[in-house]
Amino acid sequence: MSNTGAEPTRPGEAEAVRLDATDPGHRHLFHLPPADGGRYPEAAYLAGNSLGLQPRATRGELLADLDAWSRLGVEGHLEADRPWLPYHELLTAPAARLVGALPTETVVMNSLTVNLHLLMVSFYRPVGERNRIVIEDSAFPSDSYAVRSQARFHGLNPDRAVVRLTPRPGEDTLRTEDVTAFLATEGHTVALVLLGGVNYLTGELMDIPAITAAGRAAGAVVGWDLAHAAGNVVLSLHDWDVDFAAWCSYKYLNSGPGALAGVFVHERHHGDEALPRFEGWWSTAATTRFEMAPVSRPPATVDAWQISNPPIFAMGPVRTSLELFDSVGMPALRERSLRLTGYLERLLDEVTVGRPLTVITPREPHRRGSQLSVRIGAGSANELTKRLRHEHGVIADAREPDVVRFAPVPLYSTYHDCWRVADALAATVSVAEVPR
Ligand SMILES: *Cc1c(COP(=O)(O)O)cnc(C)c1O
Repeated sequence: MSNTGAEPTRPGEAEAVRLDATDPGHRHLFHLPPADGGRYPEAAYLAGNSLGLQPRATRGELLADLDAWSRLGVEGHLEADRPWLPYHELLTAPAARLVGALPTETVVMNSLTVNLHLLMVSFYRPVGERNRIVIEDSAFPSDSYAVRSQARFHGLNPDRAVVRLTPRPGEDTLRTEDVTAFLATEGHTVALVLLGGVNYLTGELMDIPAITAAGRAAGAVVGWDLAHAAGNVVLSLHDWDVDFAAWCSYKYLNSGPGALAGVFVHERHHGDEALPRFEGWWSTAATTRFEMAPVSRPPATVDAWQISNPPIFAMGPVRTSLELFDSVGMPALRERSLRLTGYLERLLDEVTVGRPLTVITPREPHRRGSQLSVRIGAGSANELTKRLRHEHGVIADAREPDVVRFAPVPLYSTYHDCWRVADALAATVSVAEVPR
């Protein structure tokens, strides 16, 4: 069973089809966009790191929640098949398994940047010279804006309070030893370390336990943005002693555009009354919620960071997706991700020869997830991805000016998709164009 839609006759294509037969993944559980370009019916979708595809199960789950509302009205809070009042608790355990946490340490709520702010209310507490926030220079802009606005909120100059870590000259990614060395020497000025677990641009997977340990040893709080790590790599947030983390659910977690996001707060911070938190009626313990008391009594779990009653129709897609991750399991997904990404790397190594294309993602499999970023030496990234899509049905993601990202997602991407990437690049970027 292959999705080629044509006899595999082009160089290397038969090998890709063969690999798909032996290592099939779970593509049948997803809707694939149709392809432009004619030769194949389905898109080669390599943009799951930007927006994951729709699981086939999602529509039915959403309709069931809509039906409950139409049948029950307000009584759905208690009488829906999945009652709305405790609905978020259905997500807690699978979210915890996904990131290697205790169920009391994870909650699904809000969106990513909102959660980063709510967590910084608690965990960015500048005092005296210990007032800086460490991010990576290639941080996702939303994170950059968030930490700068937090510095300003505390009356600090963001140009001084925000430290942006840069790779060594001539290198594209950060070295763990440079991050830990910085923390060893400058750590006494750092209030918060807030890095991306997997960098959105380069695809670099940071050494989360080593950097967390170095930051905490320096007396800083260490939080992680796991937007590109959750559902991509195996995480052990509890054992790694991470203070807090946040992630979105619309990239590798396939829960739909703008989906509800996830939060982790290590249990050592639970019930700490000295930590400031913003509160609402969902911050108080569920058993006290309808006492309508003037003062909250938050539980000693991450649920204390909730504020509002959650949007039920947005929770169904996250629940559906997390069930899928539970049924396949992160370790198995990571294994397949290593195989697929390694295969794509091998093909890119062939196609980049003589072409103005460079893979900037780390070469070591343990330093990356399911993404390979390619820097183009001529033309614009946007133009290239447009041509890949319209001429070849290959959907990738451009980050102007010069990076194109390809993510072979282990749940639904295929070897044949990877082959189509290389085939399309070979046809689109000509060897003769090389400036140099
Ligand atoms: C995708 C992404 C975001 C997006 O933020 P939203 O609040 O979900 O809009 C933020 N940070 C990082 C690192 C991301 O990869």
